[in-house]
Amino acid sequence: MLVAFMAIFAIAQQREKELALGKALAAEVERTHKLLDDAALVAIVNAIGQKLAGVAKAAVPFTFRVIDEQQPFANALPGGFVYVSAAQILREHDEAELAGVLAHEMAHVVARHGQSGPQPMIFMGTALGVCTRYPADNLPIPPSLARQAPKQEEDADILAAGYLLKAGYATAAQPNGIVNTSRFQELREALERRKAAILGQRPTLAQ
Ligand SMILES: [Zn+2]
Repeated sequence: MLVAFMAIFAIAQQREKELALGKALAAEVERTHKLLDDAALVAIVNAIGQKLAGVAKAAVPFTFRVIDEQQPFANALPGGFVYVSAAQILREHDEAELAGVLAHEMAHVVARHGQSGPQPMIFMGTALGVCTRYPADNLPIPPSLARQAPKQEEDADILAAGYLLKAGYATAAQPNGIVNTSRFQELREALERRKAAILGQRPTLAQ
């Protein structure tokens, strides 16, 4: 009984530590990047993310935010903070593809990648599913300092594939899935219009 209590206490302590680290890193990300301030669009990304969170069995809750920038990237922080840029969303063709990007980042959180060793790390992902590790205590980091962690990337891909299957985004027969939802189209078209407005151009999508 006591042993069980101590084990639960240790897990709770670890979870609190992870959340505190994540909150500090999230504050730094949000200080250095512009967040998308359209609640309806962020809610679409959050809904997709929470669908995956329902099957990911993470020890921490997930928070999904969109960075309003024209560089494609996604990243995850300890404590369940997942960021995806507007440009990254525009690279995806359907909801399943965006879910794939989110699932990969979430897998790093679930597997607690980057939280061992002397220096906590965060993960910077790209559309190719390649995440680059950056020392978290020294943002922003020049890319020249980035290190690859191929084993963790591979592990994240394997975990992510499981989430996509369980959440219905892919099947064994159809690993890439086909999920063209109206909410994803709405998100994509709104981001396309924003991008066009920023660049002073006409939207390229059909009206
Ligand atoms: Zn990764």
